[in-house]
Amino acid sequence: PVKRPIILDGKHKTTILLVQYYHRRALHGAHELVVNELRQNYWILRLRPTVRAVAARCLFCRHRRAAPQPQRMADLPSARLQHSRRPFTFTGVDFFGPIEVTIGRRRHKRYGMLFTCLTVRAVHVEITETLTTDSTIMGLSRMIARRGAPAVIYSDNGTNLRGADTELKRSIADLDADALRADGLVRGIEWRFIPPGAPE
Ligand SMILES: [Zn+2]
Repeated sequence: PVKRPIILDGKHKTTILLVQYYHRRALHGAHELVVNELRQNYWILRLRPTVRAVAARCLFCRHRRAAPQPQRMADLPSARLQHSRRPFTFTGVDFFGPIEVTIGRRRHKRYGMLFTCLTVRAVHVEITETLTTDSTIMGLSRMIARRGAPAVIYSDNGTNLRGADTELKRSIADLDADALRADGLVRGIEWRFIPPGAPE
């Protein structure tokens, strides 16, 4: 330590810059280290409060101190929380295709119905030859034979499928929602069509 240290006002801008320099040199670490280092050469009035104030205002230290905030998420829809129920009790259905398949020498189009359990995210695929109301009902029947009947089915109407094939979109738009609902009712299924623009 120097015999006659320079006396500095802790509130002065220059002093604060000096303390900031020592704070960074101490790698934003312990205040005690900064205090001791400064004392080697300077006599700073109100040294400790100044060191503490510099650290409190240091951007790097503030970022490091900040606790990570949990991501804000909406409550899960109730369909996602039905773990006591059989898989596919709450099911989403999406249509995809057409897929070209070769049978013998002929090429045919096929469509897919992708059933997703909304609770455990299990999937089941049915393939249909066309995408009409009747073939959709038959696809659902085959799915039910394997997985049991859903209580609720959620599906998009075609207008939601922005990137989808135009033929697929048209087919889905042509599906008779009332007929599907009526068929569902007979089997104890509530078929809900997600309105256009609704979030997933
Ligand atoms: Zn810092």
